[in-house]
Amino acid sequence: MNLLKELDQKTREDLGGELHRFAAELYPICRSITGNGMRRTLATIQERIPLETIDVPTGATVFDWSVPKEWNIRDAYIKARNGRRVVDFQKSNLHVMSYSIPVHATMRLSELRSHLFTIPEHSDWIPYRTSYYKEDWGFCLSHNQMLALEDGEYEVCIDSTLEDGHLTYGECYLPGRSTDEVLISCHACHPSLANDNLSGLTVATLLARFLRDLDLRYSYRFLFAPGTIGAITWLARNRKAVERVRHGLVLTCIGDAGGFHYKKSRQGNAEVDRAAGHVLTHWAEPSEMLEFSPYGYDERQYCSPGFNLPVGCLMRSVWGSFPEYHTSADNLEFIQPAQLAASLRVCTSILDVLENNRRYRNLSPYCEPQLGRRNLYHSTGGKTIEADINARLWVLNLSDGEHSLLDIAERSGICFSSLSEAADLLFHNGLLSAVPDCAQQRVADVDASRAESLACTSASH
Ligand SMILES: [Zn+2]
Repeated sequence: MNLLKELDQKTREDLGGELHRFAAELYPICRSITGNGMRRTLATIQERIPLETIDVPTGATVFDWSVPKEWNIRDAYIKARNGRRVVDFQKSNLHVMSYSIPVHATMRLSELRSHLFTIPEHSDWIPYRTSYYKEDWGFCLSHNQMLALEDGEYEVCIDSTLEDGHLTYGECYLPGRSTDEVLISCHACHPSLANDNLSGLTVATLLARFLRDLDLRYSYRFLFAPGTIGAITWLARNRKAVERVRHGLVLTCIGDAGGFHYKKSRQGNAEVDRAAGHVLTHWAEPSEMLEFSPYGYDERQYCSPGFNLPVGCLMRSVWGSFPEYHTSADNLEFIQPAQLAASLRVCTSILDVLENNRRYRNLSPYCEPQLGRRNLYHSTGGKTIEADINARLWVLNLSDGEHSLLDIAERSGICFSSLSEAADLLFHNGLLSAVPDCAQQRVADVDASRAESLACTSASH
């Protein structure tokens, strides 16, 4: 099955518009690594795809970490003596440092200053700050807002709670023909930030909705969790399930105008790394492949040495490399419908390679089989070999049971989908046999050994 063709048939024309409207719906929610904002976000995703939510209590040990207290916030402000709110959480949830402990006090500006954060070089933007693992409080405001503050006393209020509760994450599992899994993971813990957070969430959700009704080779697991602690918690609770992960993608920062970047897994040459590399090589716009590094998003956890999963990270602009990163300028204008839609297409293309990457054996390996006799060759015998005939010849030549279609794509420079179509045609014309899928083979091996052990058991009685 060609996933891109399916995508074009199944999705509405205005896929970009739908992605952007979905981001706009999620944008106002004050998310953090725990709390009601995360639960509301997961509930909104649940309106589109089947999603199981899992609550893990505060204090639960997850490897070297423990699940933090749950944070919720109702209101926050800095009020001048005349009663006017000079900084107001109701206007932007970025105004409060995430995980700020509750405060209600009157203090002089000189005292307040150490709790104020601005970006002097972008004087209209509000920064995004967090203090998850150190109890503290703070306000983020534009530099111009701070410059306008007059000396004197201010009423400072953060109406938050930081108490025992839960960390919540969501999982959407789509069973395929094999129990081997593709993991798609995105962090869902940032408040009103569009590219860093919502672009990944929305594309992952609509990707899951698209895949849900298809007959797929792999099973798919979509994970919506708070960054770092969410992935760590999921890994700690799913050590067995992790063994089934054959390929994985972390999706983030895929709504801006930048070219695509793919950060390779720690393995560096995993099938998903090669699939992404192939897709981006044939993508119309400039793109870049990045080597693995142990800093970034949740690929850090999946690629920690104990797991070493084949999980890469797909981005447009790389986090931290664009000035809007972690500021109020990473807003709904910064992500655009066409860019979100193109990102969904790139993800689909990568999955199409993984779904269709197989090995075949040429059943007529002694010299070229006569394609013309089978109506598989250029009928007039013209001088130029058409692209599709070229693809057929490459598939026939390298299908020795050893080379996969992705191997052939890399060696020939022909795009995967052309080779996959060619293989399909040759297979249906009796020129190729398919080498059994490793995943299916594993299932068969397990069944065989189970049957064997059952036979032994019954023999011993
Ligand atoms: Zn971030």
